[in-house]
Amino acid sequence: MSKEIVQEFNDELKKRNMSDKATCHITGCFGFCEKGPIVKVYPDDVFYTEVKVSDVDEIISNHLMEGEIVERLLYVDPKTKKKIDTQHHMDFYGKQNRIALRNCGLIDPERIEEYIANDGYVALADILSNKQPIDVVNHLKDSGLRGRGGGGYPTGSKWGMTLRSPGSEKYMVCNADEGDPGAFMDRSILEGDPHSIIEAMAIGGFAIGANKGIVYIRAEYPLAIKRLKIAIAQAKEYNLLGKNILNTGFDFDLEIKYGAGAFVCGEETALIQSIEGHRGEPVSKPPYPSESGLFGKPTCVNNVETLANIPVIFQKGAEWYASIGTEFSKGTKVFALAGKINNVGLVEVPMGITLREIIYEIGGGIKGGHAFKAVQTGGPSGGCITEKDLDTPIDYESLSRIGSMMGSGGMIVMDEENCMVDIAKFYLDFTVEESCGKCTACRVGNKRLLEILQRITQGKGEEADLEKLKNLSETIKDTSLCGLGQTAPNPILSTIKFFEDEYRAHIIEKR
Ligand code: SF4
Repeated sequence: MSKEIVQEFNDELKKRNMSDKATCHITGCFGFCEKGPIVKVYPDDVFYTEVKVSDVDEIISNHLMEGEIVERLLYVDPKTKKKIDTQHHMDFYGKQNRIALRNCGLIDPERIEEYIANDGYVALADILSNKQPIDVVNHLKDSGLRGRGGGGYPTGSKWGMTLRSPGSEKYMVCNADEGDPGAFMDRSILEGDPHSIIEAMAIGGFAIGANKGIVYIRAEYPLAIKRLKIAIAQAKEYNLLGKNILNTGFDFDLEIKYGAGAFVCGEETALIQSIEGHRGEPVSKPPYPSESGLFGKPTCVNNVETLANIPVIFQKGAEWYASIGTEFSKGTKVFALAGKINNVGLVEVPMGITLREIIYEIGGGIKGGHAFKAVQTGGPSGGCITEKDLDTPIDYESLSRIGSMMGSGGMIVMDEENCMVDIAKFYLDFTVEESCGKCTACRVGNKRLLEILQRITQGKGEEADLEKLKNLSETIKDTSLCGLGQTAPNPILSTIKFFEDEYRAHIIEKR
């Protein structure tokens, strides 16, 4: 509907001879999915929610022409019942710190001028003119940025290893093969701010010594692909990509490769196999891609959200970035907040915030006044977190300690009406479907786990099934080759740990 709203605005403004006074642009996602479509009026900073095409006339007549805010389109605070006209006064945005998402909802992603006007490509220009690759690597190390795709490996160290690997031909790869159920962080960044990824990849190329970059993106993301292509063409036009960038002698070009939607291709070695034209299957490490990656050349693979942080780290400084977050997890993390929560959407929060703050303040609490039961982070690889751990400050280590993981940023909230055995079955169904089949433990073992869960939910389970689930899960974790198999049983193990009574209730029902 957003496209029709933009069209209606611009048609109406033209009809009223106001096109020279106001114009309507489409932006990337504001993140507040629950309240879209959103129209923000500048320079007044007024934020209208759930706008329809039929509201356009009133916004132009009352707000743009008379300076009167259209009260009925303002967001109503669920606690105070007061209407709020500014984004930053809403609980949903109040505790967020939008760094990776800084331009989403702000700029028109199809206009490079808007990215440049918001300090875009300043970092690249400065680096190419004034820095050596090792300075760039050290700066990134000092910032403490860690990979946002799930692993949490320090990004500066990854760049440093690829820089040190000998060879004149190297590759910079962007992993845009987002696959967790319910996750759309990377899609949103590429749709809302594609130039930030191009700039970060060019910086990365300079730092590691690569003249070629590849964005590996799911073919199911047509809008992200379209905007990325436009952005690449514009960056070339402005001499920010291609030969002799900004007359500094540095060449860097970008190519897009499409993924067919296999979850396992998000694993970096499988992704490299897929780009090379092979079946997308993980391969054993070492050698690591930083030594021998794409076509056997040193390769650095970073995910979209990781890259989106990079230009701003160089603009504002490593110290600034490292001042946000916790001792070992710096900066922010984007989560796709979904499930039984009032404010579904995309949120970017500083590391160290608690899950309770995300769920009850940013997320506005549980839908329909129901009781909270659990929150799943880390997608199919993660685990369930219960009420007792909601006050844990979140970072990579603390989430693992309480039995889950950061993952790429899926966050699904469950209430008292959710059956946790069904939840475990849902995730396992997904991993069985997505297993590449290379190793027996993952290919066959996960199927057996799923069969047991199906038996239990159909009321045909037995007491012994619980032990079988636990033992087989541990075997699969220990003997699978890649992260998909090694983490696939996590949802089962964590739901048994915290909700064994629900498994037993299914088993007892049968008697
Ligand atoms: Fe493939 Fe599963 Fe083995 Fe990973 S663990 S290589 S997905 S079979």
